[in-house]
Amino acid sequence: MDLFEYQGKQYFSRFGIAVSPGDIADTVEEAVAVAERVGYPVVVKAQVKVGGRGKAGGVKLANDVDEVRRHAGDILGLDIKGHVVRRLWIERSSDIAKEYYASFTLDRPHKSHLGMLSAQGGVEIEVVAEENPEAIAFLSIDPVHGLDLATARRWVHEAELDEVAREQAAELLVKLYDCYTTGDCDLAEINPLILTPEGQVHALDAKVTLDENASFRHPEWEEFRATETDDPREKMAKEKGLNYIGLDGSIGIIANGAGLAMSTLDVVNQVGGSAANFLDIGGGANADVMAAALEVINSDPKVTAIFVNIFGGITRVDEVAKGVLEALSRVSIAAPIVLRLDGTNAVEGRAILAPHLNDRLITEPTMLDAARRAVSLANA
Ligand code: GDP
Ligand code: MN
Repeated sequence: MDLFEYQGKQYFSRFGIAVSPGDIADTVEEAVAVAERVGYPVVVKAQVKVGGRGKAGGVKLANDVDEVRRHAGDILGLDIKGHVVRRLWIERSSDIAKEYYASFTLDRPHKSHLGMLSAQGGVEIEVVAEENPEAIAFLSIDPVHGLDLATARRWVHEAELDEVAREQAAELLVKLYDCYTTGDCDLAEINPLILTPEGQVHALDAKVTLDENASFRHPEWEEFRATETDDPREKMAKEKGLNYIGLDGSIGIIANGAGLAMSTLDVVNQVGGSAANFLDIGGGANADVMAAALEVINSDPKVTAIFVNIFGGITRVDEVAKGVLEALSRVSIAAPIVLRLDGTNAVEGRAILAPHLNDRLITEPTMLDAARRAVSLANA
């Protein structure tokens, strides 16, 4: 689960990482109230889960109430790479002497954590990695041993952070590592981590991805989950426990297994269609799951055909067939359904469906045939 910057900063604060004082605002008037409270100058920042907000006009400095009004008005509703800004974070502006970069993430091939630190922050780390790779100091961290202060001190030295920043940065990095591990993050990134002219080091931005596998020990993540998506389809899917991602096309997709679901999107594209969603009903999906999946897809007015692509393994095709029939008895599905059923108990599954087939419920023998059929129905 990705956090908004303001949530990432709240998370950082819990681990003692310094951030600027500020608050959220959903309207221009709220933005003004926050600015008056924290004191000018302030930075008005778009809260969207995508990088490069600065370049897109989503981060603006305001010296007085008029500027806050103007910038808040401009940024609210702004579309940044397909993400519409609904919320702002207003914080006290910092003077910047230097911008650094710091992050921790998982290094899967090496079974360790990976720290990245650079004296060249503020720009995308991918760009630094491309143009000036020696400017990034990589640190491989044994998860059993962790990151101690002595190692962090060597690291800030190696990364050539400014002398005055080093001790504070080392201490901050130990806290950030604690946030990353104890806080169960997949990614904890600060870009820029700044040095102020007064010699203070603190986080100006926060990019945090939480590891969903650890959510059982973080009941406090519930507050982050509440703001996770404003796509009503995704909300509904989440409530039903489905692995669903909304897209813009017209063909609703249901598949078992993430790999098959992705292949299904590819095949639909290949034959000239576009998917309305990604939906993996997983292994062992039963009738209830199938019914829930159809209900979510049915809630999407853009869907003009549904493609159910099942390769039975643990999932039994006869169960899926029963699920389809059960869903059809519970809700009236607006779009025609094309099924491709193969694998475990496929023969039994097809037999269950056979008496119910018509021009709204169709089976096709292969994935490609089914994709073609769904696309032609969607465009009909
Ligand atoms: P991003 O573009 O989405 O990564 O958003 P950031 O929060 O990193 O802000 C982009 C840039 O705006 C930063 O790299 C800074 O150069 C600048 N910026 C952000 N906050 C401040 C601030 O408090 N003072 C000043 N002077 N610049 C800021
Ligand atoms: Mn940034």
